[in-house]
Amino acid sequence: MSGRHLVIEARDGAARLGRLATGHGEVRLPAFMPVGTHATVRALHPDEVRESGADIVLCNAYHLALRPGVELVERAGGLHALMGWEGPILTDSGGFQLVSLDGVAAVDDEGATVVSPFDGGRMRLTPEAAVRLQAKLGADVIMCLDHPVAFGAGSDVAAAATARTHRWAERSRAVHPGEGRLLFGIVQGGFDAAARAESARVMAGLDFDGLAIGGLVLGEPPPVMEAMARACLDQLPDTLPRYVMGLGTDAELLSMIAAGADMFDCVLPTRLARNGTALVPGGRLSLRQTAWREDLRPLEPGCPCAACARFSRAYLRHLFAAGEILAHRLLSLHNLHHLGRLMETTRAALAAGRLAEHRAAVLRGLGGGVDSAAAAQSPLSYTSPP
Ligand SMILES: [Zn+2]
Repeated sequence: MSGRHLVIEARDGAARLGRLATGHGEVRLPAFMPVGTHATVRALHPDEVRESGADIVLCNAYHLALRPGVELVERAGGLHALMGWEGPILTDSGGFQLVSLDGVAAVDDEGATVVSPFDGGRMRLTPEAAVRLQAKLGADVIMCLDHPVAFGAGSDVAAAATARTHRWAERSRAVHPGEGRLLFGIVQGGFDAAARAESARVMAGLDFDGLAIGGLVLGEPPPVMEAMARACLDQLPDTLPRYVMGLGTDAELLSMIAAGADMFDCVLPTRLARNGTALVPGGRLSLRQTAWREDLRPLEPGCPCAACARFSRAYLRHLFAAGEILAHRLLSLHNLHHLGRLMETTRAALAAGRLAEHRAAVLRGLGGGVDSAAAAQSPLSYTSPP
């Protein structure tokens, strides 16, 4: 079955293998989107991002509107030209910042007023302005402005924010920019499964090009996050791409793919890299550990990335301890390759109808002294930097 932009090529249970057509090429699904908040995936050249297996990157329209400003981006010929990335770009609207910059944003029914962390200036975000801003930036996939709530917010607060998100979605849909751009609605509903399902049904009725599940990974325990995402996924139309925002770990990605999700983004691979942590089969490998001091094996034997092809754990640990930028670059490269390959092997498993076996094998991992217990605890916040 196919929608306007989505072609589904194979299924395995609820999971889908497919392709999403955009104005700058196709995205193979399921897809992981590296995060380039400031129009760069931190420390990496766009060609390196592409070689990691990424078809599409995510940029943040709110941050780019503040700096360097939409006029400059337009003069440069749009985001693709500015950042030297020829593939598809998805921009986030800034809705997430309404939660993560708590105290910096004032939300009302018309929109939100956000204070710039750079110069203290005020920026007015409305649903219409958010769509127009992303279109001006040149985004291939535009996200509606939404109003997420933090985990622990009262049910009345969550209900009001969700109702507002629905009204904002209708207003966003009314200013769909066309021109081959895709507009995605964002499901909210707080941390109540029934409210999540209802929000998904409302969004499904608004004729978007794709639907996202937002407002997760905001401090809730992972089982709550999964339950909320599943409550939404169950209600989303089969013909539209489904994007779960802000995930995550290998286990989370595979669980959500099995439940029917197609697209993901997360700052985790690059943020972990800056902390000296590599994503490896079965968990994470921290270069802070003395165990790797004299280990001349690559981070992940068999990994084709530039870090693993030429350098040892001992050398990378040395670079990290010495505060050398190359450590950040190589770990970022490796972590993006790790997720790029996870998506590639998952797509192959879906094509062969073997997702369950693939998932079990990935979760079993390859061992090798990797600290999977530490990875399971996932102490790191995923929240984007302001
Ligand atoms: Zn590698």
